[in-house]
Amino acid sequence: MDSTFVVNSYNDGDNIYIGVKDFTRLLNGKLLYDVDRDEYIVKKENLHMKILPESPYYLLNGKIEKIRGDFLRDIDGCLIPVTPNLNRISSIMSKRLVYNKSRNSIDVYNNLYDIMDFDVRKNNDRTVVMFTLSRPVKYKYKKSKNSIKIYFYTKLLNKRPFNKTFRKSLITKVSIYNWKYGKYVVLNVKKGVFIDDVNYSKEAGSLQFVLGGSSSKKYGPMGKGKFTIIIDPGHGGKDSGAIGPNGIMEKTITLRIAKKLQKYLSKDKNFKIYLTRHDDRFVSLKERTKFALKKKANLFVSIHCNASVNRKSKYARGFETYFLSLARTGWERAVAARENASILYESEKEKNNYNTVDYILSDMAQNQSLIESSKLAEAIQNKMAKETNLKDRGVHQAGFYVLRFNYMPAVLVETAFISNSKEEKLLNESWFEDKIAKAIGEGIIDFVKNYEFKIYGRK
Ligand SMILES: [Zn+2]
Repeated sequence: MDSTFVVNSYNDGDNIYIGVKDFTRLLNGKLLYDVDRDEYIVKKENLHMKILPESPYYLLNGKIEKIRGDFLRDIDGCLIPVTPNLNRISSIMSKRLVYNKSRNSIDVYNNLYDIMDFDVRKNNDRTVVMFTLSRPVKYKYKKSKNSIKIYFYTKLLNKRPFNKTFRKSLITKVSIYNWKYGKYVVLNVKKGVFIDDVNYSKEAGSLQFVLGGSSSKKYGPMGKGKFTIIIDPGHGGKDSGAIGPNGIMEKTITLRIAKKLQKYLSKDKNFKIYLTRHDDRFVSLKERTKFALKKKANLFVSIHCNASVNRKSKYARGFETYFLSLARTGWERAVAARENASILYESEKEKNNYNTVDYILSDMAQNQSLIESSKLAEAIQNKMAKETNLKDRGVHQAGFYVLRFNYMPAVLVETAFISNSKEEKLLNESWFEDKIAKAIGEGIIDFVKNYEFKIYGRK
């Protein structure tokens, strides 16, 4: 997952500097100043760095080293010359520093690599090759008879995951080489292998190649297998969700839309549909996820109404769709906090089950379902824009507990703002709920036809 900090920088015409305070903050370390010796000391676990201002010298774990340029003094302490020392400082911090020319700032990435991970998976008669990226990376590829060459416009590739062996897949060998603009990966493939699909998702941070072999079926429209969909009406019972200015409750609206969506999707006999609740009752977030896993669901959609608690933003309006990951912006965090607040209604024993969430979230970043979830979110968002006249607020990512699955695409739809009296009124109209249900339903069908079946192919 990409996480960027933009730090203030100072440009003296030759070098770009950052303050020692920013440096310490990014390291998550401690800063001390030794007045007698006039030294800055940055400490973190097994890192001990002593900086001598107005000199190029520093001591790293007791060993003296020299930096290009000088440590300058300023009001706030001292400045570190970053641009001529990007690689050295990146390796000291175990983070990657990138100079951003247009903003004259230093961006700090939590990961040392652009291409963090590589994996090959078998799915029925398809082989899925997956690159996990820490930030958007330009690439191109070439297919020849016995190989696929993927050229990345970056050198920062983590070699380790490429050393695995990929038995039983369509790939016979993987190797990495340098080229003018970075690294390229050669996949040697079995005879008759073709590229069925290439998916690049900036949001999910992944690049995926779906390969078919000589004996692979080409998938057309849906087959005969059942595709299990879980519709999750948000909130219920003692947890009423958000309440609009005229007293309409989120839990009522979400249940009505869920039932309409069920009806809409039931027209397609390929779908097996379950609701996590059928009436006004409390269902814990964990029970909802457990239910989906028990049903071996292929897809999960949670339905909600948005709310803005801030008095100033009572006019906030529109629809947005979320998929699971760490929330990136303040707004995404706020929405996640509100929806996750359902946990407050759960018993103490149940609450204790949530401490593994962080782990699951970090694991998700590497996961196939993330890219699928982002595609599903996009498909629903597109249909919502077509079906309704509401404001399109886009696809977002946030850490929703209810979406924490490993192997199915899962999204959360914030249909409209119940906190906005105009949209609250709409949400209470049957014709409007029909439109929303239809939009979500069409989005799901779109996703299943265009994406899901290509990769998994139903039998
Ligand atoms: Zn909600």
